[in-house]
Amino acid sequence: MHNGDGNNHIKGNMKKTNLQVTGMHCASCATLLTKALTKAEGVKEATVNYATARATILHDEKKIHEQALIDIIKDKGYGASVLTEGVHSLEAEAKLMKDEILKSQKLFLISFLFAFPAFVFGMIFPRIGLHIPYIQYISWILATPVQFYVGWQFYKGTWHALRNKTANMDTLIALGTSAAYIFSIYQVLAGNTEQYFEVSAILITFVILGKWLEAIAKGKTSEAIKKLISLSPKIATVIRKGKEVKVSVDELQIGDIILVRPGEKVPIDGEITEGHSSLDESMITGESMPVEKKKGDMVIGGTINKQGSFHFKTTRVGANTTLSRIIKLIEDAQGSRAPIQRFADMVSQYFVPIVLVISILTFAAWYFVFSSTFSFAVIAAVAVLVIACPCALGLATPTAIMVGTGKGALHGILIKGGEALETAHKIKYIIFDKTGTITKGVPEVTDIKVIGKNTEKEILKIAASIEKYSEHALAEAIVKKAEEEKIGLTKPTNFKAISGFGVEAKVGAKQYAFGNRRLMQRERINISSYEKEIKLLEEQGKTVMLLSSGKILLGMIAAADRVKESSAEAIEELHKLGLEVYMITGDNERTAQAIARQTGIKNIFAEVLPEDKANYVKKLQQKGKVAMVGDGINDAPALAQADLGIAMASGTDVAMETGSIVLMRNDLRDVPRAIHLSRLTMAKIKQNMFWALFYNVVGIPIAAGILYPFTGWLLSPMIAGGAMALSSVSVVTNSLVLKRKKL
Ligand code: ADP
Ligand code: MG
Repeated sequence: MHNGDGNNHIKGNMKKTNLQVTGMHCASCATLLTKALTKAEGVKEATVNYATARATILHDEKKIHEQALIDIIKDKGYGASVLTEGVHSLEAEAKLMKDEILKSQKLFLISFLFAFPAFVFGMIFPRIGLHIPYIQYISWILATPVQFYVGWQFYKGTWHALRNKTANMDTLIALGTSAAYIFSIYQVLAGNTEQYFEVSAILITFVILGKWLEAIAKGKTSEAIKKLISLSPKIATVIRKGKEVKVSVDELQIGDIILVRPGEKVPIDGEITEGHSSLDESMITGESMPVEKKKGDMVIGGTINKQGSFHFKTTRVGANTTLSRIIKLIEDAQGSRAPIQRFADMVSQYFVPIVLVISILTFAAWYFVFSSTFSFAVIAAVAVLVIACPCALGLATPTAIMVGTGKGALHGILIKGGEALETAHKIKYIIFDKTGTITKGVPEVTDIKVIGKNTEKEILKIAASIEKYSEHALAEAIVKKAEEEKIGLTKPTNFKAISGFGVEAKVGAKQYAFGNRRLMQRERINISSYEKEIKLLEEQGKTVMLLSSGKILLGMIAAADRVKESSAEAIEELHKLGLEVYMITGDNERTAQAIARQTGIKNIFAEVLPEDKANYVKKLQQKGKVAMVGDGINDAPALAQADLGIAMASGTDVAMETGSIVLMRNDLRDVPRAIHLSRLTMAKIKQNMFWALFYNVVGIPIAAGILYPFTGWLLSPMIAGGAMALSSVSVVTNSLVLKRKKL
C-alpha cells in the first residue's frame, strides 16, 4: 500500500496549450492578452509572457478549443500559433528571436541614416553659424520616413490598444513624436523658423535602438535553454542486424541498441547492455565529477562518454527523454509568472492614462498658467510622454525569472516556475525526509540476532523471501544480504506490504510478520524482554526489523544507512541562511536521533506514518512558510502540502512530479543553493522594480519642467527618449548580472 495521492493534479478535461504570440510591443500587450484570454469562457488560467513571447493557457477543451484561443489573440491584433513541444519548436523560437533582433537592427540603421543628418543640420549647424537654405524643408524630408516608416509600429500598436480601449507605451511614443512632427509642419507652413523635426526623428531612433538592445539582451536571458538545446544530439549509431547504421535521433525507437564510442555524445536515454565507461553528466546534473557506468546502469542523452565504448538499449524517446523533459520544464518555468508580477501589472495598467493626463497638465500649466510660448509648452508635454516607460516595469520580473531559472538549471536545480522561485525566499522552516534524502537510501544489513531455535541463515531466508516483493529500501538491503550469503529464496504467498509498518506473508506453511515495533504491537507480540537490545542498536543509528510468526518473536535484523557526505554541510548552510531545519521519518525516535546528531539537525519528527507526513507539514505551516525535501512516493503528499516541495531526482518520478523544485544532483547542498538563488533573484526583481519606478517618478517631473524655474533647465525630448530607451535596457542588463553571481 503506497500512498501517492498527493499527486492529485490531474486536471480532468483541462488542457495546457502553449501559443507563440507575435506582434507584442511591450509588457502591457501581454497584460492585455492575459486579461482577454482569462475572461474567455472555459479558460481557467492564462499567462502571457512578453519576455518569451509565449502564452500558456489552461483551458477546458470541451468548452474552448485551441483555435478559439488563437482567434481571441488575433482579434486583439496580434498573431498566434500553436507551439508544439520539444526541441524543434525551441529552435523555431530561437530563430524568431534572432529575426526580431535583425528586424530592430535594420530599422535602427534606417532610422539613424535619416535622423543623424537631421540632427547635424538642425542642431549642430545653427550653433556653429552654418546656415543651409531651406533647412526646414530638408529636415521635414529627412524626418518623414523615420516618422512613418520606422515609426509605423508605434501607430499600429496605438491602434491595437485603442481598439481594445486601452493605451500603451506605443501610444506615448506615437503621440509624443506626432505632436513634435505636426507642430513642426505648422511652424514651417506659418513661416516660422523654429521646428522640431529632428527631435521626433532622433527620438524614434533612440526608442528603436532601445528595442534592438532589449532584443539582444532578452535573447541572452534564454541562453540556459539554448545551451540545453544545443546538447541535443542529432545522430546515433544504431546496431541493426549486426551492422552499424547512422540514424537521426528523431527516428530512434525504444529497444534500439546503440553504440557509443569514446568522446561521443550519448544520443538518447537508455540502459547499458555491454561495456562500461565513465561519463561526464555535468550538463544534466551539474555534477562535475565523471560517473562510472557499467552494464545495467542508465545513461542520459546529451551526456558525454569519456573513455570506454559501450552499447545501450534505448528506454526513452522523443518528448520523454530526460533532456526534453528538463527543457520543457524550464521553458514552462520561464514562461510562468511570479506573484510579485501582479504589482507591476497593476501599476502598468494605470500608468499610461496617468502619463497622458500629466502631459496635458504640463502643457496647460506652462501655456496658460506660466504664459510660456506655445512651443515651449508643447516640448515639455512631449518630453513627459516620451520619458515615461512602462516597459522597464514590465520587464523587471520576467527577465529576472528567466535568468534565475536558467542559472538554476545549469547547476542541476530545476525550478518549475516563477512562483516556486518566489516562494523559496520566504521559507522559514525546512523539513527533510530521512531515508534517501539525508541518508544515501541504500541501507545495509549490519546485525542478525536469533531468538529461539532458528539459525541466522533461516531468519534471513524468511525475511528476504518476503522482502523480495517489497520496493522499500530496507527490503532491498535484506534481499541483497541474502544474495551475498547465497541463500536461495522461497516464493511467499499472501504478500502484504503495510506502509510504515513492514511486510507480511506466508512462507511455506507458516504466516510471518516482518517489520518494526509498531507492526509487532499490531500483531500483539510482546517484545519487552528484547527492548534493551533493540534500543542499543537504534542508538547506533540502525533500523531494527523484527520477525515473528504466530505470537512468537523469531529474530531481528538491523540495517544501517549512511548519511550523505553533503548532508551536514547543507544543514549548516541552511542554518546560516536563518532557516529552522527538521527531519521527518517513519523510523523510530532513537535511530532518527542518531542520524540527526550526525548531521546537526535539532528538530525531529520520528515514527511518522507515511500518510501523516503531510499533517506535520501543515502543523509547521501555522508558524511560517515550509519547504519539504523528499524523494519517495510516501513523501509526495508532504511535498504537495508544503509551500515549496523540493524533490531529489534520484528518487521516484512521483516525487519529482509533485515537487516544484527538482534537484538533479544527489547533493543536499543544492537545497541552500536553491534558496540562495531564490533570494538573489527576488532581490534583483525588487531592484529592477525600484529602478523602474524611481526612474519614472523622477524622470516625469523633470521632463515636465519642474526644474526649469530654479535652474532654467528643461529636458529636451531627445534626451527623454534616450533615457526611456536606456531604462528598459538597464533593467534587462541588471537581470543578466544575476548570471555571474556565485551560488
Ligand atoms: P521512511 O521513508 O522514513 O523510511 P517508511 O514509512 O517507509 O519511512 O518506513 C517506516 C518504518 O517502517 C521503517 O523504518 C521500517 O521500520 C518499517 N518498514 C516499512 N516498510 C518496511 C519493509 N518493507 N520491511 C521492513 N520494515 C519496513
Ligand atoms: Mg524517503
